Amino acid sequence: MSDAELVLRSTRVITPEGTRAATVTVSGGKITAVLPYDAEVPATARLEDVGDHVLLPGLVDTHVHVNDPGRTEWEGFWTATRAAAAGGITTLIDMPLNSLPPTTTVEHLRIKQDVARDKAHIDVGFWGGALPDNVKDLRPLHDAGVFGFKCFLSPSGVDEFPHLDQDQLAQSMAEISGFDGLLIVHAEDPHHLAGAPQNGGPKYADFLASRPRDAEDTAIANLIAQARRLNARVHVLHLSSSDALPLIRAARAEGVRLTVETCPHYLAFTAEEVPDGASEFKCCPPIRESANQDLLWEALADGTIDCVVTDHSPSTADLKTDDFATAWGGIAGLQVSLPAVWTEARKRGHTLEDVVRWMSARTAELAGLSHKGAIEAGRDADFAVLAPDETFTVDPAGLQHRNRVTAYAGRTLYGVVKSTWLRGERIVADGEFTEPKGTLLSRTH
Ligand SMILES: [Zn+2]
Repeated sequence: MSDAELVLRSTRVITPEGTRAATVTVSGGKITAVLPYDAEVPATARLEDVGDHVLLPGLVDTHVHVNDPGRTEWEGFWTATRAAAAGGITTLIDMPLNSLPPTTTVEHLRIKQDVARDKAHIDVGFWGGALPDNVKDLRPLHDAGVFGFKCFLSPSGVDEFPHLDQDQLAQSMAEISGFDGLLIVHAEDPHHLAGAPQNGGPKYADFLASRPRDAEDTAIANLIAQARRLNARVHVLHLSSSDALPLIRAARAEGVRLTVETCPHYLAFTAEEVPDGASEFKCCPPIRESANQDLLWEALADGTIDCVVTDHSPSTADLKTDDFATAWGGIAGLQVSLPAVWTEARKRGHTLEDVVRWMSARTAELAGLSHKGAIEAGRDADFAVLAPDETFTVDPAGLQHRNRVTAYAGRTLYGVVKSTWLRGERIVADGEFTEPKGTLLSRTH
């Protein structure tokens, strides 16, 4: 470790082999070694001893709607990446919709990259979008470095990002599996949604009834059938319905190439506690009942659900009306996702190592980011320093994302992020940020 520039030391370092007291050496933005706690520090290296705070790998959030350019009044790269950094997230992958243009051609990707380049406080990558009319653009986008392709099976909420019907899904999936790409899917079946009672208004129970579990279950069953037929890699976004878990378990057991994510809001909130008119809790698929939530936690524990990602999808406050039918659907939780998940996890007997697996190791793996997601030699020196037993109460005024509307307001959470490090540089500590130091990530390098 003679060439180490930086040495971090903690009594609790979360490594792939478990948590231990260790000394981590960094050179050129990479972790060069994980050594015993009392290893000698060379005179030329800067020592950062974080004491009993936990040193964990920076989180990798593969589901964020940054909306920039085009709907920058909803969110932008500057604000979203600051919120992420403040929350211990060091990599995010931006969703292809809600920005104008959406990320559905190489030209559009370049426009998005140009906007993000100087504003990224953390590393940023991009998903592409699969639309009914852009099959010819999928391979060029893959070659240009997007991490995979998102599609909807029911209306997305924005007109410029139409959903795929079953034939179009098969066509896009065949094209993507031709280059062994990844298709990530918002799985709600439009016919089941159309057949559900659409009462509108401020009652959460009415909203929940309008997005029934069988819409998710049916869409996932169809997706599994197509993936099996084409031997394609598919990923179910934001799973909410626990009724789909048996299907998912069976498909994985027979070798279908299927992965699944869920989100902090499904794990932290229940339908029973959402106040009527409180559309800051609106998202699709919806937050469901407490018994459903217990089953999602079980599925995380047994590995049926691979990972936890935020689906951070804010809008301006005026679009969050008290009518659940017309209010913008999306929950803003980027900055508090780690404490939100940790608070519930510890209550249920899970460890911080579990949380790191769900929010860093597995998400890095999903996106193929082999240089992220773990504290081990050769990986990027991305870290969060966490005080896991300290609590704080979420005050929207302290959030960095653009519109400070959040379902988490007033919640008391465990886990205070003390500092965040990106490739060996401290990018935020105690609310003080450096200038943006993020880079744009590509699947190919
Ligand atoms: Zn989303």
